[in-house]
Amino acid sequence: MSADCIFCKIVRGEIPCKKVYEDEDIFAFHDINPMAPVHFMVIPKQHVDSLDAVDAAHAPMLGKLFAKLGELARGQGLTDGFRTIVNTGRVGRQEVYHLHVHVVGGSEPLGSMLPRGN
Ligand code: AMP
Ligand code: ZN
Repeated sequence: MSADCIFCKIVRGEIPCKKVYEDEDIFAFHDINPMAPVHFMVIPKQHVDSLDAVDAAHAPMLGKLFAKLGELARGQGLTDGFRTIVNTGRVGRQEVYHLHVHVVGGSEPLGSMLPRGN
């Protein structure tokens, strides 16, 4: 846990959120500024800065997190696919430095993955 980290504060219940799921290792909640009809994030409870800070010791937690995504997406009505996004570091335009997997979707196909040229 990191004292100043906004997502650690959400995990501890110090900042309110619209919770999707919680178990001993992972936590999921809706994004405060949704980019699609459904937009939530799945995070490890353990503070990890980013995907760039992940090593082999994190593999079981990441495996568990990714193994849960489909079930959580279906639970939010995403029964015909979804997109996952993990922004990492400056180039990845990461804003919150607590590893998180965005899950986005809706009833219609999303826009292209990235605008061409970026
Ligand atoms: P990223 O750019 O991948 O670091 O994404 C950070 C995401 O966290 C953004 O989509 C924000 O809208 C979202 N966010 C920031 N603060 C909160 C909060 N208090 N509750 C829910 N989502 C948040
Ligand atoms: Zn944190």
